[in-house]
Parts: sequence; structure tokens; C-alpha cells
Amino acid sequence: MEKSIAKELKEKLLINNKNAGERLDDSEIRNAEKFCFGYTDFLNAAKTERLTVDYSVNLLEKKGFKVFDKNIKYTTGDKIYYVNREKAIIAAVIGNLPINKGVNLIASHIDSPRLDLKPRPLYEQGQVALFKTHYYGGIKKYQWSTIPLSLVGIIVKKDGTKISVNIGENSDDPVFTVTDLLPHLADEQMKRSLKDGIKGEELNLLVGLYPFKDDKESEKVKLNIMNILHEKYNITEHDFLSAELEAVPSFCAKDVGLDRSMVGGYGQDDRVCAYTSLKAILDIEKPERCAVVILADKEEVGSQGNTGLQSSYLRYFIADLAAPYGVKAREVLSSTQCLSADVNTAFDPTFPDVVEKNNAAYLNYGVVLTKYTGARGKTGSSDANAEYLAKIRNLFDENGIIWQTGELGKVDEGGGGTVASYLANLNIDVVDVGVPVLSMHSPFEVTSKLDIHMAYKAFVKFLTDNL
Ligand code: MN
Ligand code: MN
Repeated sequence: MEKSIAKELKEKLLINNKNAGERLDDSEIRNAEKFCFGYTDFLNAAKTERLTVDYSVNLLEKKGFKVFDKNIKYTTGDKIYYVNREKAIIAAVIGNLPINKGVNLIASHIDSPRLDLKPRPLYEQGQVALFKTHYYGGIKKYQWSTIPLSLVGIIVKKDGTKISVNIGENSDDPVFTVTDLLPHLADEQMKRSLKDGIKGEELNLLVGLYPFKDDKESEKVKLNIMNILHEKYNITEHDFLSAELEAVPSFCAKDVGLDRSMVGGYGQDDRVCAYTSLKAILDIEKPERCAVVILADKEEVGSQGNTGLQSSYLRYFIADLAAPYGVKAREVLSSTQCLSADVNTAFDPTFPDVVEKNNAAYLNYGVVLTKYTGARGKTGSSDANAEYLAKIRNLFDENGIIWQTGELGKVDEGGGGTVASYLANLNIDVVDVGVPVLSMHSPFEVTSKLDIHMAYKAFVKFLTDNL
């Protein structure tokens, strides 16, 4: 049967509205599923920024990446990495073209919303020992009660000894939890707004009941817990100050759905982009332009701090990399093209009203290109320029990358930010690209396997392209 003129015109002029499930053949779908085995392993092993750096170093070294040495003039195909304070990492594969032609850079972040222990966390009330927490990043606090939580991080003693803590991640470990009221007694609590259903100072972790066996002292449960910690880690209450202990969901990432089309798990914002971009740089050999992947910390709190992307460490790394060739960092950066790889919100059929449906991202429609984030008149957004977006969509189309556009919510509904604007500040061309996610910032975020695999494919093409 011949195509009608309208159908022909539609195909020529309008955006193809088929999702990746329809557009990909069965073998490509199987490949995506296989790819996600590695991804769920990664989500389970790397729930914090420090664990993600450890995991990444391990994979990079297996693939021949060496610690960056600024005295070396690297040549095509050399693979290097640089770790910033165990919480952020840069990996690079040296390209064929001179460094002053710029690099192909992908930036994602490896910190996720969680509950951090306060500097004086341990207390006892009603003969129950608890840890006070201060939540990190934007969370709906009520979502973090009545779920099992692990405690992961480090304690540094005055002499510099570093003790690593990981309780709750092994199947026979104990876990922690934030309690909530029974409905029978929650009449007053239920009148609170959802935002305050559980308040910040109610995010207290349950840590123990047994009292220390000595009937003359008070706070014996607290003492007993401190004694357990002392015996296990040789620490005192003071040592909590120089510690970074993070409570994260202790459950594992799982396939979601009868068709197993989705991945559910903690920390997919933004470890889904971290994993896919890391895999991409692990799998490339001799790119034309130097390929660089950065996994940054602190995005969820505004990219502050010396491990966040407002810090100068990326600029210094580029300066050190370029110096042996007699090239200035600003020359490299000004010719650098970047994907700010971060998740975007996916259309949620249960909550359709917060997005504008023509400009929302959808699960299974591939990677999301987001021209601008920001809110209320694009405020705070990098707003990628049209010329650069034209290049990127051409690159994706030429390489069979399924992509879509996506805006984070309706105009004036809310909005968000990414690291894009901090990269743009370095005079880098940058646009937000990422994987759409449901239940973002919750303990159990959901993504589509086809989108995850598509992100990986997009990142490989971007890193190896001579743009
Ligand atoms: Mn993010
Ligand atoms: Mn986020």
C-alpha cells in the first residue's frame, strides 16, 4: 500500500513519536538488559561518593589507566586518572589531535541525597540510643523514615588514621532506621503539611537499646553504644567531628516491572550518568580529541566545596595536562565541548500535572537533551547555545542515538540546576544530557534500561567524535 501524502509529510516534517521499545530490535533490547547487570552491581557497591571513587579506580586500573603525573607529556591513547580527596575523579584518554584543540568532556556527579550524621550525633532518650542527622541535598523527608539504612563513610582520628565504616551493606549486618508514629496516634502529625510530615530534627537513627552494665551512671545506653564503637573502631565521641558518615538505603537495586524494563535503586541521580560515562571512557582506545570524564561531588548542595565543580580542580587538571605541550589551560577550555550528564525528571502518569507534556521527558524515549534548566524565567540556567545543540543532535542522529528533549517541569512550577553553569563559566560549550528518572531524590529511584544503555552509547559517540 502506498503512503498517503500526509503520512509522508508527517515522517519528513514532524518528530518521530515512537519510543525506544518500538524502535530497537530484540538484540539491542537484550544488549541493554545485559548492560544493566553491571549497572545494578555498581549501584549496590557504590552508594556514596567515596565508594564510587573506589569502584571507579578499580575499573580504570584494570583497563590500564594510570595515576596522572603532571611531569609526563602524554601521547595518543595514554590513559590517566586523577582523584580529588577520594570524593571526585577525573579520567582521560589522550587524543590524536593536539590538546589545544580542546577536549571532549562529560561531567556527572556521584553524590546523592542522604542523611549525614551530625558532628555530635549520639544521644540517649527514654533509654534508647539514637544518632542525630542533618540531611544532605533536597529530600522529601517523610520518604526516609521506616526504611532500612546503612551507615557508610570514614572517621579520621587526630593522628590522621582513617577508619572506614560500612555497616548495613552486607546481608548479615545490622541496619538503622528512622521511626515514624503509628497512625493511631498520628492525628496531630497528619495535620502537618507533607513537607513537615517528618521534620528535619525528627530524622534520628535508631542505634541501640542495651544499657552498659553499671547501675550508678546515667545514659548507660549511649555509653554502651559508644563502647561498642570504641571496641570496634577505637574511637571516642570526639572523633565524630572529623568523620563523614552517611546513612543511605540499605536495600539493593532491583529490576522493576513484570517485563523487567526498569531499574529501581538508590542514588541513580546521578550515578546512572556516572556509570554510563565511566563505562564509555573505559571502552574507548585512541580518540581523535582527548576524552575526559569527570565524576564530581557536591552537586546536590550546589557544587560547593573543593570537591564540587565550583572548585578549580578541573581547571588545574587541564592546566597541568596541557603544560608539557606549552599550551595554556584557557586555550584548551575555550575549545572544549561538554555534556553535563545529569538525570532529568520523567513524565509520571500518576502526577502528570507538573510537566508540560510536549516538553517533558518520557521513560524509554532515550537520552534527554535539556537546553536549559533553571526556573522562573530560566534563572540560574546555562542555556546552551543553538549552534552547539545543532552539533549534538546531529552527532546523535548520525549514530542512531535515540534522544528526546525535556524540560524540568512546567514554566514556574519549580525547576532545578546542574553543573552545566559552572562548566560554562570556564568558557566551555556545554549542554545537559541525561537519563530520565521517576521518583528523583527518593530512596528508590526508577530508570528505564533502554535509556541507560542509550546514554552509554551516546557518551561513547561523544567522547570519540571529532566534533
Ligand atoms: Mn543530578
Ligand atoms: Mn539531584
